[in-house]
Amino acid sequence: MNLARQIEQYLPWQLLELVQDISKQAAKLGQRVYLVGGVVRDLLLGYPNFDLDMVVEGDAVKLAQQVAETSQAKLLAHHRFGTAKLRYENFTLDLATARKETYARPGALPAVTPGTLKDDLVRRDFSINAMAISLGANDYGELVDPYQGKNDLEHRLIRILHPGSFSDDATRILRGVRYEQRFGFEFEAHTAWLLKRDIHMLDTISGDRIRHELELIFKEKQPELAIKRLAELGVLTRISSSLKGDGWIAEKFDKARRLKKPSQLPSLYFCLLIYSFNERELEQFLARLNIPVKLSRAMRDTLCLKTELPLLDKASLKPSEIYYQLRGYEPLAIQSNAIASDSSRVHRHLQLFLTKLRYVRTALNGEELKRLGISAGPEMGKVLQILHKAKLDGEVRTKADEKKLAFSLSLKLER
Ligand code: ATP
Ligand code: MG
Repeated sequence: MNLARQIEQYLPWQLLELVQDISKQAAKLGQRVYLVGGVVRDLLLGYPNFDLDMVVEGDAVKLAQQVAETSQAKLLAHHRFGTAKLRYENFTLDLATARKETYARPGALPAVTPGTLKDDLVRRDFSINAMAISLGANDYGELVDPYQGKNDLEHRLIRILHPGSFSDDATRILRGVRYEQRFGFEFEAHTAWLLKRDIHMLDTISGDRIRHELELIFKEKQPELAIKRLAELGVLTRISSSLKGDGWIAEKFDKARRLKKPSQLPSLYFCLLIYSFNERELEQFLARLNIPVKLSRAMRDTLCLKTELPLLDKASLKPSEIYYQLRGYEPLAIQSNAIASDSSRVHRHLQLFLTKLRYVRTALNGEELKRLGISAGPEMGKVLQILHKAKLDGEVRTKADEKKLAFSLSLKLER
């Protein structure tokens, strides 16, 4: 099958020109170069994907250097791995020397040596990701599909390439579910059986790698689908025994998307995911996934604030009371509680803090207070706090209001 027409149809012209240029340069160097992985899958599905990955039979860094010389690209080369990244204004392109991988033990990172395209495809996760398109002068656009990935795409199936695949690298379980739910596919029967058999191999995967896969899931349009499926398969409890992927998660993830920008969602999803945990369960989860310090703090704060929410569910709260209740918490923890809480009043109070109260500042500063006769030190701290409170509660609005209040306070302090 030839996909030259699809390449032309789906790639924007800048990318198309680049692909053709690389094809010519590779021919000059006597190298064979291929488009591989996600872009091939998505070309066949008719989905846009401008994340181009190429595999080179030969030295990928050398090819990338040639291409960089004749274009506006910035080159980032890793000689040791035989990989290079070409960075253009609006996109990047990855070139890798075809590689062969062997696993010393399950879950370890593989040992890598140079190989052929076939070697490079056999190390991949699923048949739908193990296809290539030749960019050679004589066979430009030809599909290379040794594992019948196209057939699996047509039958909407996720299939591993060999029975030891999940045991070699159990992150593929998480990856498989991500693709299954993104495309509305299913695991092929034998793959599904092997997945269940090898679920315990997740224990061999480092926290960083599991976390990375969850982060990839959290970048999907509807991560709750994958989370629900992971729960059904018993993957979530294998990662952390108290993790759930129920209707509550689905509802809250959806609510999060309506409130926040995509870049802020992954961290928020993490906070929502652990919302039903107790302290001990959370600490186990943070350790298992090696969650970075800042996110850990937000997740701990999330549970801490959850216990305080009844204090924020009162009708008569002044803005300054809301402020002092919340000011010590990470904004992410406040946001996750706003989404998690079923009380519209709590939601309103937390949102008021996030969108307004936390930014309120007095117009007067220390210097100006000194000129009004208030001396630096605890006295001034007290005045500033009263001014701030008054501003939060709308009792003072303008700088003149603040001056008037500060002046009357200074008179009281003198007495
Ligand atoms: P997308 O980015 O749309 O999720 P992709 O196919 O581009 O899909 P990447 O995570 O960017 O996925 O990885 C690129 C390719 O590398 C994949 O298509 C797959 O062939 C291969 N790959 C990635 N991770 C693994 C893994 N754990 N085991 C085997 N192959 C992998
Ligand atoms: Mg990709």
